Amino acid sequence: MFNRDGFTTSIWQSTSEPYQSLHTGTLKKEFDIIIAGGGITGISTGLLLQKAGMRCLLIEARNIGFGTTGGTTAHLNTLLDTPYSTIKKNFGEDNARLVASAAVEAINLIRKNIREYAIACNFVEADAYLFAQNESQDKELQQIADSTNVAGVPMEFVEKIPIPAEFTTAARVHGQAKFNPIRYLYAIAGEFEKAGGIILQHTRVTAVEETAPLNVSTGTDAFTCRYLIYATHIPPGVNLLHLRCMPYRSYAMAVRLSNNNYPEDLCYDMYDPYYYYRSQVIDGENYLIAGGKDHKTGHEENTEKCFEHLESHIRKYFQVAEITNRWSSQYFELVDGLPYIGQLPGSTSGIYVATGFGGNGMIYSNVAALTLSRILTGQDTDYQKLFDPGRIKPIAGFTNFVQHNADVVKQFLGKLLPAEKLEVLSGIAAEEGRLVKYEHHKLAVFKDAQHNIHMVHPVCTHLKCDVQWNVAERSWDCPCHGARYDVDGKVITGPAGRDLEKVNIE
Ligand SMILES: Cc1cc2nc3c(=O)[nH]c(=O)nc-3n(C[C@H](O)[C@H](O)[C@H](O)COP(=O)(O)OP(=O)(O)OC[C@H]3O[C@@H](n4cnc5c(N)ncnc54)[C@H](O)[C@@H]3O)c2cc1C
Repeated sequence: MFNRDGFTTSIWQSTSEPYQSLHTGTLKKEFDIIIAGGGITGISTGLLLQKAGMRCLLIEARNIGFGTTGGTTAHLNTLLDTPYSTIKKNFGEDNARLVASAAVEAINLIRKNIREYAIACNFVEADAYLFAQNESQDKELQQIADSTNVAGVPMEFVEKIPIPAEFTTAARVHGQAKFNPIRYLYAIAGEFEKAGGIILQHTRVTAVEETAPLNVSTGTDAFTCRYLIYATHIPPGVNLLHLRCMPYRSYAMAVRLSNNNYPEDLCYDMYDPYYYYRSQVIDGENYLIAGGKDHKTGHEENTEKCFEHLESHIRKYFQVAEITNRWSSQYFELVDGLPYIGQLPGSTSGIYVATGFGGNGMIYSNVAALTLSRILTGQDTDYQKLFDPGRIKPIAGFTNFVQHNADVVKQFLGKLLPAEKLEVLSGIAAEEGRLVKYEHHKLAVFKDAQHNIHMVHPVCTHLKCDVQWNVAERSWDCPCHGARYDVDGKVITGPAGRDLEKVNIE
């Protein structure tokens, strides 16, 4: 099993071993391009650039697939979460069409890679069904169908849907797909390496000097490159994009059905947040994968309850024989409906970013790969302007990698808090995390199964919001910009670059 940024185990984790990089021996120090992040965005982009003759180094803080790519549900859609009507309203009709054609091109890139490299990832072409269950959803569905058709993605009303749910109206789109994202990711990572690209796992990009060439530091090593791409899901440091991308947590389950009634196609209801269903064959076994119950990160007191709701929802429609996996993961919702792909706002040199994919990151990661590879190899692309992160203007004071972390007050460092004064600790159950007050300070406390106390200062090192306990994933999550820490305060996911301050007790 490979590691992921959560305590729960996704279906992809329990069916795949860790990726083994080919690279051994000493490493060159100069590259054309350095990519931070070994999820689907980083690897897809690296493969195109390496194949185009660029010398690429891909640096992954943990292991390939550690981030949201290891916790996705891997629907491949041209029917996007942001309705084309919203895209049309915000960016115009021509751009809504351009987004649709970008989504088609992204799925085609995946199809092409699977064909060219003979990737066994259970890729299956499928239709997507969106179904309404009341009058207001009927109206909304009609609007979505109209705008989807105008954008160039044919959507037709149908009488039947592939799951046993009651509905009032339903519509279908052809040309969607599903696959095993980790089998695909590992295969293209292998092709990237075979083409001469280098993958360094368990290495974090910690700082960048905006010189020419760029100096990229990993704490233990330093490299130079012409261009750096943050394929880190959300860029590290402090950037205007953090104010435009809102962190959300989403829940998924893989179940075996007693009646083998697995839907071949992709299905979505129209609630907000919506539930979705599909099936996936892995190593000869069929699974139903269902998801939903999304909420803003840090805004749900008991994240275990989200699994309970999801499970009872699945049982309404399906005969569940066994729940094999339940997991949750984080994504970033977009403020204006489109992702940010291009030069990092506030950066004057060759730093690029791909972020804000919402629930369509399988598609937008490939749109990013196409866009960035074209920009960095000097080709024109209409996508550059459409997805330009510079469509938002940097405000004074926001620069890349601002060293603001230095001023986080060192309140507890080196101090030993007397255990007997922390009476509240006795009230915390094993495996429980809680924010508690000590004198005038807040502390984030977790008691493990052996009753050892893990205590950290709960102020996020990114922009100083208070972290919240995520019981399902055993992590401290920042509701503001999505940074996450383990029970000892170690960074699990950015944008924070520094651990929470640890508090010791006698
Ligand atoms: C529950 C759930 C279901 C989803 N389902 C779908 C779906 O059905 N279809 C769809 O299209 N999208 C879906 N999405 C969205 C999609 O999964 C994500 O958008 C996509 O996986 C993001 O990929 P990524 O490569 O950009 O980021 P990630 O997969 O998060 O990869 C980023 C990597 O960067 C590394 N990293 C971070 N900081 C550094 C650093 N400083 N140095 C080096 N490495 C670093 C991390 O360790 C991580 O491995 C879903 C999301 C969720 C949460």
